[in-house]
Amino acid sequence: MNGSSEVSLVALGGLGEFGRNVLWLSCGDSNVVVDAGVSFPDEAFPGIDRIAPDLSPLRSVRIDAVLLTHGHEDHVGSLPLLSEWCEAPVYSLPFTAALARRRLEEAGLAIERLVEVRRGQTLRAGAFAFTFFRVSHSVPDSAAILIEAGGWRLLHSGDFKLDPDPPDGETTDVEGIAQAAAAGIDLALIDSTNAERPGRALSERIAGAGLAAAFADAPGRIVLTTFSSHVARISQAADAAMAQGRRVAILGRSMRTIAEIAERFGRLRIAARIAPPELADAAPSRVLCLMGGSQGEPFSALYRLSLDEHADLKLKPGDLVLFSARTIPGHERSVNRVTDHLVRRGARVLREADPPIHVSGHAHRDDIADWLALVKPRSVLPVHGEARMLAAAAEIAREHGVPAESVPLVDNGDRLTLSASGMRIERRAVATGKIFLDSRPEMVDLEVVRDRRRLAEEGFVVVLVHDREIAVVSRGVARDETELSGEVSRAAREVLDRATAEERADAEWLRAEIALVAKRACRREFGIRPVIVPVIV
Ligand SMILES: [Zn+2]
Ligand SMILES: [Zn+2]
Repeated sequence: MNGSSEVSLVALGGLGEFGRNVLWLSCGDSNVVVDAGVSFPDEAFPGIDRIAPDLSPLRSVRIDAVLLTHGHEDHVGSLPLLSEWCEAPVYSLPFTAALARRRLEEAGLAIERLVEVRRGQTLRAGAFAFTFFRVSHSVPDSAAILIEAGGWRLLHSGDFKLDPDPPDGETTDVEGIAQAAAAGIDLALIDSTNAERPGRALSERIAGAGLAAAFADAPGRIVLTTFSSHVARISQAADAAMAQGRRVAILGRSMRTIAEIAERFGRLRIAARIAPPELADAAPSRVLCLMGGSQGEPFSALYRLSLDEHADLKLKPGDLVLFSARTIPGHERSVNRVTDHLVRRGARVLREADPPIHVSGHAHRDDIADWLALVKPRSVLPVHGEARMLAAAAEIAREHGVPAESVPLVDNGDRLTLSASGMRIERRAVATGKIFLDSRPEMVDLEVVRDRRRLAEEGFVVVLVHDREIAVVSRGVARDETELSGEVSRAAREVLDRATAEERADAEWLRAEIALVAKRACRREFGIRPVIVPVIV
């Protein structure tokens, strides 16, 4: 180790868990935050949309910069929360900045703090200097970042893979990274997501070929769902469809917004578009519909389609629905549920195929080994993953000659310090926690203090549904309880009345729908925003 003063790292999220990546680096009284992400909870958190790490440990320090590796939600989703009080400039490559901008605008926050960085350009903030290098991943402008402070040189891989020939040309900047590494890397932070998987991550082109093959024997409509930010996949799907004379419709707000950004950046060109209202009259063999909802989210376009409730599209027997995305762990049941609904509509559903219709955006074992050979780090810190993934990445580092004592495994809240006398770990140095976010457009964090404030101001309303019976219980709501209960029951009753038998049997759908109408009824009739707790028995 050759630094002149100490540099410390604390993860507030992302270690020993999937998602909500936030890394806090400090050197003297200067601090930098890398990524500000959220994770997506499974069904163990009813009514909760996203989970952010508790960012309050950052409130007591001077933050000189926030650096974003790329625009995925597990890296930028809690930026609005951080930006409520942190005014530090936020640096990223341009496409990431566009996605972050949309997040901040939705939350009504200032966007002036966003700074677009060019690849290879070195910037300074406080005691830190940093340089962004492009890496191949599943969203444009993903970056690895060289971070220098106190005489130390750290290279954060971001999320990456080594696709030598991606269809969008977004290769990993091997040359730039090799040059940066030539001056020595003290610590390499490495994406461990796929460290358990042998071999190499497949090229994005394989997914394109898989989609074209699957499209070839589809006589009816094709509906494809993937992550809205996966521009390369959307582009390949559109190309494959247009090659067969199909026109392309994009349904759902999130995917439309990101497609617009991608078109503005020249990352997506869809020459043959079809507007959603024209779908009803178009020949089924002539359309491809792209939409979000690949994780079975109850308010997504795909979910509405699966329940025959989409305004512009009705599935018919013989239509093909492709899931061109992996299922995030914990979302298997939601994905299975939406698949069952689709199958009941007579659609053919394709989730796994040969050749594959989805490939991963994360490096496998051999890719990680190649990265380490390129970077030649003195020490390695596995990041981005559950404990077993971090352990697998550590094993790869040791196999490739990094001494075991230079491959630390740390948890959220542990402080890792690089000092002249070596590497030091202080376990549980910083208190970490979670903040729960619900599906409202504005952020509501359920952290104890604010939760209490809100409950004190607005109270809560529980809507109990048992078969066709509805009971409403409210506490702390400053309105006539009978009137309130009457309005909310009426709204919930309407949901039950218009729901099909299939929808009524879908507790997740009912819960989401009843929460929405109860929230609206409270706001419209009484001008209040209590916490709504739908309980389906
Ligand atoms: Zn990512
Ligand atoms: Zn990630």
